[in-house]
Amino acid sequence: MGTSGADSQGHASGLDAGRSVLVTGGAGFIGSHLVRLLLDEGSSVTVVDNLSTGRRDNLPPSHDRLRFIEADVTTGIDALADETFDEVIHLAAAVGVRLIVEQPIHTIETNVIETSTLLRFALTCGRDGTPANVLVASSSEVYGKSDRVPFREDDDVLYGPTTKSRWSYAHTKALDEHLALAHHQQNRLPVVVARLFNTVGPRQVGDYGMVVPSFVRRAMSGQPLLVYGDGEQARCFCDVRDVAPALLALTRTPSCHGRVFNVGSDRPITIRSLAERVIETLGSSSPIKTVPYDEAYAPGFEDLRLRQPDLSRIREAIGFAPTIPLDETIRGVRDAIAQREGAGA
Ligand code: UDP
Repeated sequence: MGTSGADSQGHASGLDAGRSVLVTGGAGFIGSHLVRLLLDEGSSVTVVDNLSTGRRDNLPPSHDRLRFIEADVTTGIDALADETFDEVIHLAAAVGVRLIVEQPIHTIETNVIETSTLLRFALTCGRDGTPANVLVASSSEVYGKSDRVPFREDDDVLYGPTTKSRWSYAHTKALDEHLALAHHQQNRLPVVVARLFNTVGPRQVGDYGMVVPSFVRRAMSGQPLLVYGDGEQARCFCDVRDVAPALLALTRTPSCHGRVFNVGSDRPITIRSLAERVIETLGSSSPIKTVPYDEAYAPGFEDLRLRQPDLSRIREAIGFAPTIPLDETIRGVRDAIAQREGAGA
């Protein structure tokens, strides 16, 4: 894909050196891949992460161009008030359906207040008080339970009632998007919104409900893979090693600012087929067990049947196309788990 180096249309390169970049949530799964890309290209990186779901050991233990601040976004930004950043990548968020269902207040406050603080900071943290280039990570959850697939960025969205806490996440992310776009409109903030679809790969953990690391972890130890519902719900999984460079390219391409982009794969697989695929790829003897949604989450939980992005916009803007096959992702997730467990973590 055309995100490493200038592409044929002269879009911004993902590999320019010497930048100063702030990454919130940089110790998380996606953040840690992005931080490594930035360090490799020669940028100086400041990570603000409260380690609520991220891990310090997702990042290099020490690096002369990496600074790590363990803090919430608001506190971290206070400490950085006098500093200058060329780019701000905002990944910090409460993520994972299980966390959202269990801790809705934390989810709502983290996702809205911290994004608001961060966007205001980005307005003047660039060189000589100018705005920095900003990326706000959003989620395919913003589409809610719309059944008009594939999802297009400008489609109408459909949410469940506020009495169902799972929809709070969609509302918070939609509000983040509104805020980002409002700052672009009112304050000319060069900000882009990325709607991430089921990003997977090494260093993702299953603790918060994500299906691929959960399946891989169980397949490695011969435990049953738990397929929720009838297993016919489908998702499109995209490897983080495709996603991370695309996020940088979106941030650095001026024509993307003020816009929303789907980021992911558009090839669906049912969750039952995914379970079979994990077992086959890893040569596991695990059985598959189905679990009703009520038991897996909470009574009345509403799942999505199919989550699939339309990728026309991002393809046209930065030449994005996923390259890493699912089997390679599954093996990568396994290797990362084995490495971590080997290290006694
Ligand atoms: N899922 C499952 N078993 C698990 C974890 C998840 O069957 O151990 C299902 C989940 O109900 C959903 C799909 O896998 O239908 C993807 O779940 P995930 O939380 O990874 O992503 P999202 O639902 O946010 O797309």
